[in-house]
Amino acid sequence: MKNYGLDLWASDNFIIENGELKLNYKSKPSLLKIIEEIRSSGVRGPVLLRFAHLIRKQIDSLYDNFKHAIEENNYKGDFKAVFPLKVNQFPHAVEAIIKEGKSYQYGLEAGSKAELALAMYKTPLGANITVNGFKDKEMISLGFIAAQSGHEITLTIEGLNELKTIIEVASENSLRVPNIGIRVRLHSVGKGTWAKSSGMDAKFGLTATEIIQAIKLLKDAKLLNKLTMIHFHIGSQMQDIAPIKKALREVGNIYAELRRLGASSLDNLNIGGGLAVEYEQHSHSKSRNYSIKEFSSSVVFLLGEIMDAKNVKHPNIFTESGRFIIASHLVLITPVLELFSQDYQEEFLHFKEKNPPLIDELVDLNKLLNHANAIEYLHDALDHIESILTLFDLGYIDLQDRSNGEILVHNIIKKALYLKSASPTIELEQLQSKLQERYLINASIFQSLPDYWGLKQHFPVMPIHHLNDTPHRAAALWDITCDSDGEIGFKPEKPLYLHDINLDKDDYFLGFFNLGAYQETLGMNHNLFTKPSEYTITITNSTYKITNSIESKSILNTLDSIGYTKDEILDKLEKDILNSDFITEKEKNDTLLQLNIFLQQNTYLRTTK
Ligand SMILES: *Cc1c(COP(=O)(O)O)cnc(C)c1O
Repeated sequence: MKNYGLDLWASDNFIIENGELKLNYKSKPSLLKIIEEIRSSGVRGPVLLRFAHLIRKQIDSLYDNFKHAIEENNYKGDFKAVFPLKVNQFPHAVEAIIKEGKSYQYGLEAGSKAELALAMYKTPLGANITVNGFKDKEMISLGFIAAQSGHEITLTIEGLNELKTIIEVASENSLRVPNIGIRVRLHSVGKGTWAKSSGMDAKFGLTATEIIQAIKLLKDAKLLNKLTMIHFHIGSQMQDIAPIKKALREVGNIYAELRRLGASSLDNLNIGGGLAVEYEQHSHSKSRNYSIKEFSSSVVFLLGEIMDAKNVKHPNIFTESGRFIIASHLVLITPVLELFSQDYQEEFLHFKEKNPPLIDELVDLNKLLNHANAIEYLHDALDHIESILTLFDLGYIDLQDRSNGEILVHNIIKKALYLKSASPTIELEQLQSKLQERYLINASIFQSLPDYWGLKQHFPVMPIHHLNDTPHRAAALWDITCDSDGEIGFKPEKPLYLHDINLDKDDYFLGFFNLGAYQETLGMNHNLFTKPSEYTITITNSTYKITNSIESKSILNTLDSIGYTKDEILDKLEKDILNSDFITEKEKNDTLLQLNIFLQQNTYLRTTK
């Protein structure tokens, strides 16, 4: 993994040049330069960088691939898409989505009342709004208000009761009736971590019997002309394309049947989301077995085939892919605060005039270790350290000898693991996972990578500089929460190698990638570590601009946001100092000043330069 799997997960979004990771776009700014500029204003802790051009790239890719497939297959329907708000509702993400998708009339999908209000606020007239999820009468009425305001809105019903409520609201007022969609309960089931959205026991959608009843209800209410869409969503991050094809056959046939039953306004087939993102960094394990090109041409070809066989009008194809659109646009950069075994550096070796013979032997092993003898010398070293520790317990050697022994053995193991990293044995793999160097990162996994904590979802991670040097250390990442779950370990078959950096002298920044989907929204304030500072980076031909900066919440505001009153906190802490004994007035004043500064800072550590 010399380039950290960049060729697998990065879709050409980043390149390595002069040892630094750079954006592969226009003026190609280095991530390190951007971070240094942000930190030069005093900002510390982890930082989120948003790249709107990467949202644009994904929107273009979605529309271009479907357009191409439609032309190629002589398909008669159109392609339309909406962004599902649950994947990322934050203002600077949504604003970028709307701006970058404007020329396509890219719309929004809402799954709750608050998301619907947001969709009504942000969707330009002419672009589509689709509404999924369970709905009460208020939510349905909100849909009528959206329609009345001129929005192209489709309320997709999850059950017959919702349809009855729509009919009820329509009879109670004269607002424009929104378009109606039906979510189909598939009998085919998706595969993948998140694929719980379909199947006989699914939470959502109408069965065949219910669909027939729905048509009857609509006919009786004279609203059948409002039925414009059928919809399914088989789950997120679909690793395999086969279940999608199976679902398409099922829903395609339902669409054709409904048109034959007289649903003549029905002309949209909404295939939901689920398009997967590549998160893996090792070529032997991939997150998905298809490309956007294969996906789009399979969808278009299959639907055309079904409709032609049944002699039915080709439907417009709708998608609600979220992860695919937004994942790549967000990068987290975290400083490394500490390497736990930094004490084992060779500079701490202090030999005596005369050392115990075992130490001299370790010195030789360390010096002469090479690819051919690595395993043998490693075994010798492990044997020697056992003896050295026994001798220490028995009082035959002193603490300095023991320290020298530990440093030497540590180095021998490190070198042997590295020399053999291309052809590891089971023994080496076990040793390596035991000896992963722990890198302490100034971030919270719960806040920034919640799906790692909850689902063991891997996110690509790599240093953003020092990339001309070979990384030697198999790493594990520890976050700064006090939770033992706040650790990312790496399996022997998928190790992460990082650099041996002397953090007293040098910075070391790690980037976590593809975090734009779900992570921002799901992130939690465990230990009261709040959302990192965030910035939008706009790249031009000659330079880049940093905008939309939101600094991570201060300690006082963090406490305030969970229900404490910041003025009372400050007041109490200040009184405690003022009333304390044994310090001078000047010291009291200095301390108060310091206290104020500390509490205005964000919740992350400030130990790096
Ligand atoms: C969550 C969801 C999506 C988005 O799924 P992705 O995997 O992010 O593409 C689309 N449609 C519906 C109905 C959803 O619930």
